[in-house]
Amino acid sequence: MIIQEGVRGTMDTRLYINGEWKPAEKGTFAVINPANGEQIGSAADGGRIETKQAIHAAEAALPKWSALTAQERAGYLKEMHRLMMEKQDELGELITKEMGKPLQEAKGEIAYAASFLEWFAEEAKRVYGKTIPASNENKRMMVIKQPVGVVGAITPWNFPQGMVTRKVAPAIAAGCTVVLKPGEDTPFSAVKFAEICEEAGLPKGVFNVVTGESASEIGEEMMEHEVVRKITFTGSTEVGRLLMKQGAEHIKKLSLELGGHAPIIVLDDADIDKAVAGAIASKFRNAGQTCVCGNRIYVQKDIYETFVEKFQAAAEKLTVGDGMQKGVDIGPLINKDGYEKVDRHVKDAVSKGAELVTGGEGYEESGAYFYEPTVLKNMTSDMVIMEEETFGPVAPVQKITSDEEGIRLANNSKYGLAAYFFTENMSRGMKVAEGLEFGIVGWNDGVPSAAQAPFGGWKQSGLDREGGSEGIEAFVETKYISMGL
Ligand code: ADP
Repeated sequence: MIIQEGVRGTMDTRLYINGEWKPAEKGTFAVINPANGEQIGSAADGGRIETKQAIHAAEAALPKWSALTAQERAGYLKEMHRLMMEKQDELGELITKEMGKPLQEAKGEIAYAASFLEWFAEEAKRVYGKTIPASNENKRMMVIKQPVGVVGAITPWNFPQGMVTRKVAPAIAAGCTVVLKPGEDTPFSAVKFAEICEEAGLPKGVFNVVTGESASEIGEEMMEHEVVRKITFTGSTEVGRLLMKQGAEHIKKLSLELGGHAPIIVLDDADIDKAVAGAIASKFRNAGQTCVCGNRIYVQKDIYETFVEKFQAAAEKLTVGDGMQKGVDIGPLINKDGYEKVDRHVKDAVSKGAELVTGGEGYEESGAYFYEPTVLKNMTSDMVIMEEETFGPVAPVQKITSDEEGIRLANNSKYGLAAYFFTENMSRGMKVAEGLEFGIVGWNDGVPSAAQAPFGGWKQSGLDREGGSEGIEAFVETKYISMGL
């Protein structure tokens, strides 16, 4: 449904509501390539009216969709998986153009996104209930699981396809129907996903997309509409908090994947090369713009200097540039605000005594914002970067003396999404793993996310889990049936 125009192949997309492609009343909004500031197209600027239409379409589609067998729903998801992998190159390129991550990484995201379609096609068949022994011989007790109903999904720009399937796949697998509002920087990936749904023959109304520039307008309609039973959101803790407040009126069910501030602890018996490779992968993936990116590195004193030296050397090998170019490891930051935040964190740290090991400079080029991979050392806890999510390619390294200090500093955060540590010692490692107050722990592993594993955070990093067998639980209600004989 993407309308190709002109030699530059700009895109002009519509909303996907009730299986039809519709323009928005408010017109369109421009979508910019963050690597060169060029407009790559325009997307329909949906608002309240269209969100309401989409909710009604999802409501109308619900009875039939939820009544299908799990095997039938799984069949659609398998076909969507096949189609997504068939289009991996094209969809990967689109991600790079929309939000800047290097092409190889973007294609990797498509495989990651598709893996949720496959996983939840399988999990659809395993939504088990149970029977409970009754305390009265004339009673039988059972528990069944049923779809929660119409779901509103709100996704961010940093994984334009991955965050969509991580929510939509379990929702439709469970028998729910969905209205999606994608990040305004990356509407086209979501529209492409709708094309896949259409091509796979998904019944109309089961999946709907409302792209739009006014997130609060679309969000408010979802929160205020009684038909929407569940909101699944990935984004900032601030917006998550707002959704909780708005949801209070209707006691809206919420799954929230919010901010993080991941610590990386390197103990003195770690395999240093493994730790460096893991920390590089965790820190610099997506130019540091993921909620599970390492934000602070704690290294035990005996290996501190060696680690910093090797980490610096590895960071300096990373190439910054347009993600469409071969050999680029770090693409642009998403926008000026993102750039300014990174710059502020670095300047604040340096002004408070941090030593710049490498990097520390950014630049703007035709409206695109790039930042060099940066390593800082001699950190102190009063520096903003040790507390606030940076969302950029900056790695502060702080010295620690013991395992306990590492755990204490790691836990000293309002966030609890991902944490990483490196040690070759099983007993030490198990104690660290158990001591960390985080939903995801990478032990000698800088990239732990996988469709079959639960993803989500403790504390202010969110509610519920996505992926794994837990992922589908967020989209079912429990019903207890007590039967008198
Ligand atoms: P990020 O920093 O990742 O952009 P946001 O929380 O701002 O995090 O955005 C995540 C998603 O939430 C995006 O789709 C954005 O449009 C949406 N969003 C932003 N503000 C609101 C709001 N007031 N209500 C609903 N959704 C919102």
